[in-house]
Amino acid sequence: NLKLVSELPVSGVHVDLVRGQNQLNDVLKTIPENVFLSLGIVDGRNIWQTDLEKAINFLKSVFESRNKLIISSSCSLLHVPVDLDSEDKLNPEIKSWLSFSKQKLNEIKIIKDTLQNDSCRGLINQTPTDNQTHDRKNSKLVHINAVKERLQKVSDSDYSRKSTFKIRQKIQREKLKLPHFPTTTIGSFPQTKDIREARAKYKAGKISGIEYNDFLKSKIKEVISIQNEIGLDVLVHGEPERNDMVEYFGEMLHGFAFTKNGWVQSYGSRCVKPPIIFGDVQRSKPMTTDWTKYAQSLTKKSVKGMLTGPVTILQWSFVRNDQPRSETAKQIALALRDEVHDLESNGISIIQIDEPAIREGLPLRKSEWKDYLKWAVESFKLSSSGVKDETQIHTHMCYSEFNDIIESISEMDADVISIESSRSQMELLDAFIKFKYPNEIGPGVYDVHSPSVPLKDEIKNLLIKASKFLPYENIWVNPDCGLKTRGWEETIASLKNMVDAAKLMREMYVRV
Ligand code: GLN
Ligand code: ZN
Repeated sequence: NLKLVSELPVSGVHVDLVRGQNQLNDVLKTIPENVFLSLGIVDGRNIWQTDLEKAINFLKSVFESRNKLIISSSCSLLHVPVDLDSEDKLNPEIKSWLSFSKQKLNEIKIIKDTLQNDSCRGLINQTPTDNQTHDRKNSKLVHINAVKERLQKVSDSDYSRKSTFKIRQKIQREKLKLPHFPTTTIGSFPQTKDIREARAKYKAGKISGIEYNDFLKSKIKEVISIQNEIGLDVLVHGEPERNDMVEYFGEMLHGFAFTKNGWVQSYGSRCVKPPIIFGDVQRSKPMTTDWTKYAQSLTKKSVKGMLTGPVTILQWSFVRNDQPRSETAKQIALALRDEVHDLESNGISIIQIDEPAIREGLPLRKSEWKDYLKWAVESFKLSSSGVKDETQIHTHMCYSEFNDIIESISEMDADVISIESSRSQMELLDAFIKFKYPNEIGPGVYDVHSPSVPLKDEIKNLLIKASKFLPYENIWVNPDCGLKTRGWEETIASLKNMVDAAKLMREMYVRV
């Protein structure tokens, strides 16, 4: 659209030279010289220091050949936290590599000053970019050979399950003995005030680790017994120990750092504090097995282990910029693969790996979709494929609009996927007119974002609709997302109606 832009009645044009470096030559040729050109050279989407020397060298010839220039960040600074100076708990080595909004403004100024007057070059060394870039390259914090070697040794067979879905499905049916239209939830149960208070007290050192663990166990016991009473078929432990589905894992993995005040806007007035992935990702010990094993010990029904997937962990973090994102995703995938293995060997036969962010990782340009989807799918498969045929892998996605990537989703080859669809009255199902989704699927039957309790018949009707598009034997019955933000009263009422609707479906569809 450069030509169109060049004809607009504007006095300035901004270009993103972080994501779109290659466009600079065309921009210079097309945008008239009497228009201000704003060069977005400082990354507005990430928290790493700019390599000032490189930026200055890159812009030098433009600066010498053209007037009316502005030096800027690549985009608005909405996506980066405000000020690094207030981060007094960060590892100083890591901190020395970072730059938040305030620091980025300074970088912009140094670039400008140095371009205008080479004697300002000394300023570059005041922000120790040169040394720091060097440090990062050799830092023992960042680089773990064992992690790199393991990834290099990954072979094609690590990316796929031993047998095809059809064979696995048969083995899993014999083992799990679930009814048709099996019922389950997405993982979290209400994070009530007492849970948040206990976590805060534990973090502030007001209660001991033992007390906190006992408290969490009592919560797990409660949700197991509630689920049994409701009559759900596949149970979950409820995730009371997790503050956030990415932070929880990041805190236990090497390669992640956390800020005190690094808040950025998620949407509206909702903010998040993304972890910083600064180095090779390594798991040193199991992260979820104790909780899941405990939950499983309380019931004869299967308890589903619950993990956050590699793409979602990547997508909801600030990611290192010294290697391709795909590599970081695969390192996370390998760490999760070990966790999956530990769950399996501790007797957990169903494991869910959530990937709600897979859709939002899609690049803006369609031409780049294929490459992204390839490594995103590979990362998921790397995390999930190390299990026996009899172990059932689930995944979960929400936030809708999957129709255009449904084939990639099916390539993930999860035995079961639960997916958002209730808000759109199962619009998702349109995708299945053209494409026959081969594995089992739980199209969410009610919206967890509202406190209203769905009626049994409403749920049944959605399931009947789903059964027109999908083989009924492959349909699961579940809400469309986790129940973390709901209250208990509506949760129990809704799940009871959901279980009743599944029973009605069994009567209608399943002939003996
Ligand atoms: N297992 C998570 C939960 O239930 C999934 C959350 C999500 O999809 N965003 O909370
Ligand atoms: Zn969800």
